[in-house]
Amino acid sequence: MSVFRSRFKELQRRVPIDEHNCAVQFDETKCKNCTLCRRACSNTQSIMDYYSLASTGDMPICVHCGQCASACPFDAITEVNDVEKVKAAIQDPDKIVIFQTAPAVRVGLGESFGMEPGTFVEGKMVAALRALGGDYVFDTDFGADLTIMEEATELLHRLQSEEIPIPQFTSCCPAWVEFAEIFYPDLLPHLSSTKSPISILSPVIKTFFAQKKDIDPSKIVNVCVTPCTAKKAEILRPEFNSSSIFWDVPEMRDTDICITTRELANWIKEENIDFAALEDSKFDTAFGESSGGGKIFGNSGGVMEAAIRTAYHLFTGRPAPKDFIPFEEVRGQEGVKKASVAFGHFVLHVASISGLANARAFIDDLIKNNDFENYSFIEVMACPGGCIGGGGQPKVKLPQVK
Ligand code: SF4
Repeated sequence: MSVFRSRFKELQRRVPIDEHNCAVQFDETKCKNCTLCRRACSNTQSIMDYYSLASTGDMPICVHCGQCASACPFDAITEVNDVEKVKAAIQDPDKIVIFQTAPAVRVGLGESFGMEPGTFVEGKMVAALRALGGDYVFDTDFGADLTIMEEATELLHRLQSEEIPIPQFTSCCPAWVEFAEIFYPDLLPHLSSTKSPISILSPVIKTFFAQKKDIDPSKIVNVCVTPCTAKKAEILRPEFNSSSIFWDVPEMRDTDICITTRELANWIKEENIDFAALEDSKFDTAFGESSGGGKIFGNSGGVMEAAIRTAYHLFTGRPAPKDFIPFEEVRGQEGVKKASVAFGHFVLHVASISGLANARAFIDDLIKNNDFENYSFIEVMACPGGCIGGGGQPKVKLPQVK
């Protein structure tokens, strides 16, 4: 059932940052050797020291989280810009361009236009995407709801099965998935088999929505707008081709292009759109409605909260009461948080981790103390604070993971 497999060699082939890295690019002429990127990479994220290895000619390892691009004050490292691909699709009269926007974009985008950090600009964001030429704009929160139903169902299954191991680790952060594949391949049976919200919603658009609207799916260009540079790598994974299988069109991808919050902000500025003056617009309705569960995916602990609430609901048949879980213990900006909750005959010990250095320390402890079965569910997000601090968000001072 798992879509994951160890791809160490494949990843090694694909990561050289300066030539083929699909997420971040390096312009040596702008580099001032401040080493902030190196610190973000090797200290915060605890990946092998990408830049030292690159300079000695050894093969570096990159999980595409983009924290180096976020840390670089001189724009020497930036996300790979894919906006021109979206513009080309919009200019092609044969194409139908469909945007979907991840939860953290609507609370990050406003900062690029001088608004207070965290300003909720969902309506203006949708209006801007329509003004830029999008034919439809959908909410990835709907995909997040599907993800959480799957993930909670799988958790209940694991809790009641002797054959599938616990704890269940989340799988919606592609940088964490790559990190686990490279450094902890023995952990892969613990990773949820559920795809990320974007990678669930995209094939739904190219199959269910295309059928409903009688659209030729090969004309659809699915564009995800995300806080995340690692999504640029995720959408290329060979297994994310459900629509290709459904329609028997070998070259069809589920998601065609990924752009970050920063790329969208720059594009809006280039087009001289007065973002602050835009009239609010609503998401298209086929996937425009979602529960509160998907909306909290952007924060560290949000997936955990939604999954445990949904597991409670699925098991008991009732919505989880407000005070069912001490949620505050697993949400917020700390690097590692833990909580315990009980329902039915289950007592769940859960943890929420942001920052891969924290994940590495936590997992090494689990291995050293043989402590795996004392946990039921562990959320890992690569970026400090979760996707809200993603590598493609506007560059702001964020609380650093300790
Ligand atoms: Fe992407 Fe979020 Fe993971 Fe960062 S934490 S790599 S933004 S999915």
